[in-house]
Amino acid sequence: MKTAFIYTDAYLDYDYGPTHPLKIIRLKLTYELIRAYGLLAFPSVQTMITRKAEEDDLAIFHSREYLNALKEANEGHLGEYAYSYGLGPGDNPIFTGLYNWSLLVTGATLQAVDFVAKGEGEIAFNIAGGLHHAMRSRASGFCYVNDPVIGILKLLDQGKRVAYIDIDAHHADGVQVAFYKTNKVLTISLHETGYTLFPGTGFEYEIGEGEGEGYAVNLPFPPYTDDEVYVWAFEEIVPPLILAFRPDVVVTQLGVDSFYNDPLTNLQLSMAGYEKVIRQIKELAPRWVALGGGGYDVSNVARAWTLAWAVMNGIELSEELPKSYLEKAAKVGVYEKELRGGPKFSPSGQSKEIRIEVERIVNYIKGKVFPKIGA
Ligand code: ZN
Repeated sequence: MKTAFIYTDAYLDYDYGPTHPLKIIRLKLTYELIRAYGLLAFPSVQTMITRKAEEDDLAIFHSREYLNALKEANEGHLGEYAYSYGLGPGDNPIFTGLYNWSLLVTGATLQAVDFVAKGEGEIAFNIAGGLHHAMRSRASGFCYVNDPVIGILKLLDQGKRVAYIDIDAHHADGVQVAFYKTNKVLTISLHETGYTLFPGTGFEYEIGEGEGEGYAVNLPFPPYTDDEVYVWAFEEIVPPLILAFRPDVVVTQLGVDSFYNDPLTNLQLSMAGYEKVIRQIKELAPRWVALGGGGYDVSNVARAWTLAWAVMNGIELSEELPKSYLEKAAKVGVYEKELRGGPKFSPSGQSKEIRIEVERIVNYIKGKVFPKIGA
C-alpha cells in the first residue's frame, strides 16, 4: 500500500493573529512528531511539498466576486465589502497573505485528491485542509476556502463516487450545503449539537433535499458526550451507510476539537475514542483522502494526527514521544510526553441522559435515512 503526506513549512508564513485560537504552529508540530517517529521514512510513503492551487480551482465552488474580495484582503486591507463576505475582525480576520494561505491549503488537498484518483496510492493526508465551514461567497468559522468541497468536486469530475465523513466537533455546514441536493455525494457529519455550538446547524432532521434526500447525514451529540457513546453511535451509523453507498473514495475531515480538553467545545472524547474511529475509517475506505480540521489544543493536534497517520500506514507507535520532538515542542510551550496521555479527565456524570438522547438520534437516522441509501 502507498500513502502520501503533503506539507510545507511555508504554512508558517501566515498567522491568524495573536489572540486567534487557530494556531498554524500545530501543523509544524504535527509534521515534526510524524518525522521524529520515523513515519515518513518508509519506501511506501511519498512526502510531497505543498503546491498552491490555481484561482480556477477555487472558482469551481466559490464565486469570482468572493475570490476578488479574498485577493483584496490578501494585502492585509479591509476592503469596502469585506464584511458582507464574512471577513473582518473576529473569526475570519484579514491578515497578510490570507489568499495565498488559502491557495496553499487547497493545493495540498488537490495533491491528495490527484494521488488517490490517479491510483498512485490508496491514502493521502493533508493536515492543513478540512476547512469545512467556508460557503460559496462567505468566509466562516476560520475557513476562507472550502478545500473539502473543491476536492470532492474534482473527484466527481473524474467519475468517482465519494463519501465524506467529518468528525470535527463542529457541523460540516459548508460541505453539507454544497451537496445537499445531490445523491452523488454522501455526507456524514458527527459533531456537538448546534444547540450549544457553532455553526448552530447539523440536526438529525437535516437529511438532504430532492434527489439528495437521505444523502446528508447528521449525528449531533449533546455536550459532554464521551468516547463510549460516541464510538457506539459511530459504529451504528457510519459503517452500514458506507457499505451500502459503496464509495470509490472516502474523504474525511479529522478535526481534533472533540477532545475533552479542547478549549472551544464541550465534547469529551479522548485519544482512545479518536483512535477507534480512525481505525474504523481505515477499514471502511477503499481509498482515502484525509484532511485535517479543527483542534485548538496544539499538543492534542500533533499527537492525534500523528496517531492517525500511523494507523493509515499500519504502524504501531511507542507511547513515549521521541526526544527530538519533545525538545522542539517545549520551545513552543508543549510538554506532553505520552502519545495517548493528557491532563486529568473528570467525566461530567451525565452519561445516562446523554446515552438516551444519542440512542434516540441513532434510531431516527436508521428510520429516516437507512432505507433511502439501502443500508
Ligand atoms: Zn471544529
